This record gives sequence, structure tokens and C-alpha cells, in this order.
Amino acid sequence: MTKFADLKLSPKVLKAVEAAGYETPTPIQAGAIPPALEGRDVLGIAQTGTGKTASFTLPMITMLSRGRARARMPRSLVLAPTRELAAQVAENFDNYAVGSKLTKALLIGGVSFNEQNKLIDRGVDVLIATPGRLLDHFERGKLMLTGVQIMVVDEADRMLDMGFIPDIERIFSLTPFTRQTLFFSATMAPEIERITNTFLSNPAKVEVARAATTGENITQGVIKFRSAVKRNEPREKRDLLRALIENEGDTCTSAIVFCNRKVDVDTVAKSLKKHGYNAEPIHGDLDQSRRMEVLAGFRDGKIKFLCASDVAARGLDIPNVSHIFNFDVPSHAEDYVHRIGRTGRAGKSGVALMICVPRDDKNLEDIERLVKHEIPRLDNPMASGATPAPKSEPKPETVEEKPKRTRRTRKPKEADQAPVEAKTAEKPAEKPATKPEAKKDAPREKPVRQNNQRGGNNNQRNQVKGMGDHLPDFIAKSFDDRRN
Ligand code: AMP
Repeated sequence: MTKFADLKLSPKVLKAVEAAGYETPTPIQAGAIPPALEGRDVLGIAQTGTGKTASFTLPMITMLSRGRARARMPRSLVLAPTRELAAQVAENFDNYAVGSKLTKALLIGGVSFNEQNKLIDRGVDVLIATPGRLLDHFERGKLMLTGVQIMVVDEADRMLDMGFIPDIERIFSLTPFTRQTLFFSATMAPEIERITNTFLSNPAKVEVARAATTGENITQGVIKFRSAVKRNEPREKRDLLRALIENEGDTCTSAIVFCNRKVDVDTVAKSLKKHGYNAEPIHGDLDQSRRMEVLAGFRDGKIKFLCASDVAARGLDIPNVSHIFNFDVPSHAEDYVHRIGRTGRAGKSGVALMICVPRDDKNLEDIERLVKHEIPRLDNPMASGATPAPKSEPKPETVEEKPKRTRRTRKPKEADQAPVEAKTAEKPAEKPATKPEAKKDAPREKPVRQNNQRGGNNNQRNQVKGMGDHLPDFIAKSFDDRRN
């Protein structure tokens, strides 16, 4: 097995890796770091949770330790699709670059231009940005990209979903032809392939197994629920959610409650708070400082229940999430994998429970097809009387609220404004603002259903094969390093 010491990283970086407690490189790290250090382009096909952030930050820090930054001309550039992901990459840099004296700036929306300009004016080694904010700075003449020696595109498939590919192409064209490119995507949709064929030069291709098929440390279950009176369904689902939480007892220490729509995120958070739970909402309509504040509160354990839309599901590395509650079945099967992958991280165990109303049956089937196993049906704790049904809420009118229609359409360049949720209020489910051609280019995978052990609806959670992206599994997996 490869060791970090074999990877030719600088001694300072090795020290930082040791301080982080990493013992062995994950497959994406073992595969991507050597060619990156040789100056080659790298095409990494890996999901979040595989250790991919370190697979590009560690070699970058090693390579950038030689040389100095010039004013307004960053030496390297990392593009991430959302503010949160960009902030997370920046955090990783801070951890791994301890003692390396490299300067860094984070360019994301919701933060004043002035502060960011000051940093850029002084000269930065590493610029981490969302595409929209980066181009804003460029267009204001505050930034030159002609000094970029290394460019990283992280979560390219998410960029595609969000309509940022034209921005990425533009940014590529503003950087020198001679730059080194490290490009990461969970999947290779035809549009992504086109970009990599155009902008990468003879890349080392490193592919690691999809997280969706690995991991056995997340216990999953779904509760089928039908309301006798349709209009009571939202309220009854919230009652059921609380019953599920109560049923988990002390094992539930920190949880994310996912809803498909922003309006429901707010309603569910409000409802939980009203019933005495420590809950806060997070979604793309909140301003950036509030989003950061809520995330920080959740990370620090000050907030126990994070009610979230899918903006919080992808990529974020929040340790110690004991439970995921899917208040709604996600309407895109991959989102299920991303959502439940927020628990069971770093080898810990996790629980993922989901409420499924009859109209979600089709989406549930899609999920089961994708993950290639059935999600066990669990008893409704309220129906069995195992949990005293919490009191109904006194103000149903607030919860029956129809989602507001919004005319707002975001331009792709407002990446950092979380366009993923721009128009979701009028849809039954949140869906990234996908361009038509992106949809066409990224057909949804429909693996053959492996229908097997649908056996009863009782608690079968301990038989469940879970999934997730905890590290021991990835470390154990082999990788494919094909050099073209
Ligand atoms: P990422 O895929 O970059 O979001 O990383 C997922 C998690 O894995 C983060 O919490 C990292 O700190 C952690 N991690 C990255 N590399 C290693 C490693 N070699 N050993 C153990 N944990 C790691």
C-alpha cells in the first residue's frame, strides 16, 4: 500500500498530513498526487468524501512553496461550484499549508469586494473562488489570470448541473495555455468530457469507485406514510418526523433534516423549534453570512438539527452527524446518496430515515434502482403507539402556506448565490437550474432493478447494507490510474 512518505510531498506538507491524523493516502490521493507533482494534468473521477480535496491541495502546496506571488496575479486558482464548497477548500488549505507561508484569498459572493480586493492587491498564491465572483472581479479589472500556473476545477459535474460550464470555459481561456490543470468530477457526462478534451492535455486519469456502492455503516430505513386527509399531510409529516426523532432517543446527537423545497425547510425548522428542538434552517435564500453562521453552529454542536435543502447535501464535510432525516424523498436519486453521505463519515456509523408519501413511490423506486438494494420499510412509530404522538401544531395556516412563485431567474455567473435553488419554490422539488443541453448530455442512469428481499415492514435496520463515503472503505478500494 502506498504511503504518504512515498508521494514526494514536501516535508512541511507531510507534517501537516501527519498532524491531520491521516495514516495512508486514499486511492484518489495515491493516484492523483504523483502525476500532479510531475506537473501533469490530472482528470480525477471521484466523489466527495474520497479525500479528493487533499489530492489536489497537497501537491499544490508542495509545488507553490517555490516562488512568490505578484500583486493581482494569483499563482493558482481553485474553482468550486458553491460558496460553501469554496469555503471548505479554503479551510483545507489552511490546515495543510501550516508552516508553508502561502497566501490565500477566498472569492465568494456575499462577502465585500473591498476586503477581497485588498488581499488580491497584495498578491496571493492560491485563489479559491466560485466562478461568478471570480469573473466579477476580473471584469472590474482587479484581477489578472495570466499568472495562473495551476488551475483546479472541483465538482465539475455540479458546475454542469448549475449551468456554469460557459463561465468555466471563459476562465480557462483567460489563464495561460501552459497552466497545469487538475480537474475533478464525480461523473463524466458528455459535456464534461468535451471540456476535458478541450482544456486538458494528456491528463493522468484517476478513477475511484462511486461512494454509492460502498460503505456499510449507514443504517437506512423508509417509513411509508399516507394521510387520511390530504390537506393534513404536511402537518402529520412533521408529527411523524418528531416521533422518529424521539424514537432514536439519545443516539440522535446531531441531525440533518432534508426537505425538497426551501419553503418546507423553513416550515419544518420553525415547527421543530416550536416543539422545543434546537433547530435552524439553511438554504440558498439566506444571506451568506447567515448560512456560514448556521453551518458553523451546526459544526460546533450549538445547533442540533440542521433543516436543509440540497445545497447543504453536496460536498460538505460535517463530521459527527448521527442522523439524516429525509422529510421528503428526493426527486433525484443521486441526491439521496449525497444526503445520506453526510452521516457515517470517517468510519463512524450513521442512521438515515426517510418519510415516503404515496406520490413519492416512483422516486423511492428510482433511488432503490440506483443504490441497487431495497431500503427497508420501517414501522410508523406513531401508528404503533411506540412513541407518544407529539401535539399538533396550533397554527396550521402557517404550514399550509403555498410556496411563493418567483420570477427570479439567476444568471449562471451568480454561482455563489446558490442558483441551485433559484426557481425551486414553484416546483415540487428542488432541482438545480439545469440547462436543457446539460440534461440531454447527462442521462440519468437507470441500472436494472435488483429486486430481492422485500420482506415485511418491520424494523430490519440492522440487516441493512448502508452506503456512504467513509474513509476506511475508500482506503481499501483500488484505483485506476490510466495514463493516456
Ligand atoms: P473530501 O473528499 O476531500 O471532502 O474528504 C473527506 C474527508 O476525508 C475529510 O474529512 C478529510 O479530512 C478526510 N481525509 C482526507 N484524506 C484522508 C486520509 N488520507 N486519511 C484519512 N482521512 C482523510
